[in-house]
Amino acid sequence: MGQIIPWNFPLLMAAWKLAPALATGCTVVLKVAEETPLTALRLGEILQEAGLPPGVVNIVTGFGETAGAALAAHPGVDKVAFTGSTEVGRLIVQAAARDLKHVSLELGGKSPNIILEDADLDVAIPGAASAIFFNHGQCCCAGSRLYVHERLFDKVVAGVSDQAKAIKLGSGLDPATQMGPMVSETQRDRVCSYLEFGKKEGARAVTGGKAREGSGYFVEPTVFVDTKPGMKIVKEEIFGPVVTVTPFAEAGDALVHEANDTIYGLAAGIWTRDVSKAHALAARLKAGTVWINCYNIFDAALPFGGYKQSGWGREMGEAVLDNYLATKAVTISL
Ligand code: ADP
Repeated sequence: MGQIIPWNFPLLMAAWKLAPALATGCTVVLKVAEETPLTALRLGEILQEAGLPPGVVNIVTGFGETAGAALAAHPGVDKVAFTGSTEVGRLIVQAAARDLKHVSLELGGKSPNIILEDADLDVAIPGAASAIFFNHGQCCCAGSRLYVHERLFDKVVAGVSDQAKAIKLGSGLDPATQMGPMVSETQRDRVCSYLEFGKKEGARAVTGGKAREGSGYFVEPTVFVDTKPGMKIVKEEIFGPVVTVTPFAEAGDALVHEANDTIYGLAAGIWTRDVSKAHALAARLKAGTVWINCYNIFDAALPFGGYKQSGWGREMGEAVLDNYLATKAVTISL
């Protein structure tokens, strides 16, 4: 198995990939992200200490275009499991095509998070803030498009903005820090370019909207309003602490259409006191995960993965085993 992981959760991504491969009896070459190679190397040492036979788990560092591309194209690899951007996901599929390798992909997202008229705002406001600001928004399933019933709109915008302003930015090594710097200068600049696009396209940053001065690649948690469906900040994955907030009048077809109006389909959130309404809406959202009155809840038993261009296959749950097993029919004449 060839496995390629990103930098946003270095240990977790390695665990999500290695565990099912080992459970199904596969050997693995795992390529870690160039930004975060050390965690998986330490995990490799621990696996050695634990007595894993040599050659079962092989951890490779290196750049994507070289080490990653070589792994994805290598004829000795039967299957590639990739987590990362949709753009690189496409390259993985192309590289795997020659040998028709099996491929599973966990890619980008632009997840809608919907606050219905009857939501409990004491739960929904901190929930919507953490849905986007957790891990600096560097989450494929971040709730980056917030849709709020028009009657609650001003209250939610004010509440989420207050939460954003209260987040303490600082060094990741300081226990008082609630949000560290972005992973790299490139990522900081990428997020800031979206902040500029947003303003140019007519959106208004209620809070944040720029990089924070100081040593480190800090970006202020940002809440955009006055957005329109076609805007770059509404359509594209930013992978930073940036949320767009859009009002809706009715939880009907127009809202469902807008929520699903994306190339992605990884996750979605719904906040309501009415479980029947939540189920009815969840069924109409094209997303591999729908969280109701919560967000970013994971469990090893729950399958996680995307519709549309958010990926192929599922991680975790029973479903992940399908990524690593082949079905064989053995017929015997007795
Ligand atoms: P991110 O945007 O999160 O950095 P990427 O998709 O760029 O996501 O990277 C995720 C992983 O894919 C990293 O381990 C990276 O090295 C690897 N990677 C990048 N480009 C390629 C490629 N052309 N072929 C294979 N792996 C790649």
